[in-house]
Amino acid sequence: MQIIRRYMHNPLRNFNYLIGCEESGQAIALDPFDADIMQAMAVEQGWVIRLIINTHEHHDHVQGNLALQALTNAPVWAHENARVPGQSHGIKAGDEINLGSIQLRALHTPGHTPVHLCLLAPASAQQEVPVLFSGDTLFNACAGNCKNGGNVDDMYDSFVSQLLPLPDATLLYPGHDYMKTNLAFALDREPGNAMASYWADQVQALEPDAMPVMTLGQEREYNPFLRLHERRIREQLLQKFPQLGQGDRDVFRALRQLRDHW
Ligand SMILES: [Zn+2]
Repeated sequence: MQIIRRYMHNPLRNFNYLIGCEESGQAIALDPFDADIMQAMAVEQGWVIRLIINTHEHHDHVQGNLALQALTNAPVWAHENARVPGQSHGIKAGDEINLGSIQLRALHTPGHTPVHLCLLAPASAQQEVPVLFSGDTLFNACAGNCKNGGNVDDMYDSFVSQLLPLPDATLLYPGHDYMKTNLAFALDREPGNAMASYWADQVQALEPDAMPVMTLGQEREYNPFLRLHERRIREQLLQKFPQLGQGDRDVFRALRQLRDHW
C-alpha cells in the first residue's frame, strides 16, 4: 500500500489522499475535494481509481465525488447512515475494505459529525506499521471540532473506544493541515511541553505538502486531547473553569471548548 497525500490550497486546508496498491495499480480516493487533481495524482502514479470513500458528509470532504465518479466510473462508498453525492454502498463499523493489496478496516468515530468513518490499515505482512486515516476526528495536536452537527461527548467516547487502543507506531493521516495552529494551542495549554515546542519549531517554515507524518506515539507526547491526565493541563484549565470536574471527559470538553475560540 502506498499513500499519496496532497494539500488542496483551500481556506479549510484539506488534505486529499490516494491510497494505491502498487502491484495491481488500483487506488482508493479518499474525500475527493478536487476531482481533476485527484485524477492527475492517479495518472502520475500509473494507478486507476477504483473506489471513492468519504469519511463524513461535510461538503469539503465530498464535493469532488460526482466529478471524480464521472472521470473514473468508481463507486462512492460512505458510512451506511451517511448521505453523500453518488453513494452506492453503506459501510458499517468493522467492515473490511479490500482492493488489491490494500486492506482497510472501518471504524465508526462519531463526534465531529453524528456519522464519521476512520479507516485503519492494520499492520500485516504487506503493511509494516498500522496506518490511520482519521478524517476530521483526530488531527495532529488536536481533536476535530464538534460545532457543525457534532457532539463533544460522542467525540470523547470515540477517542476512548476507537483511537486510544491503537498502537504507538500507527501513522496518522488526518483530513486537514492544522498542525501549526494546533501546536500553538497545545503550547498555550501546556507551556512546558518540550515535544510541542520541538515540533512547532520543526514545522514552522514548512509548506503543507511537506508536513511530517506523525505517529500516534508522537501525538501522545504533545496532543492535549491525548494527555487528559497531565497535571499541568488540568491546573491551567482550572484557572478558566473553576468548576472543572475530575474526569477525563471534563478535561476533553473544556479543551474542545477553548479550541473552538482559539
Ligand atoms: Zn468536517
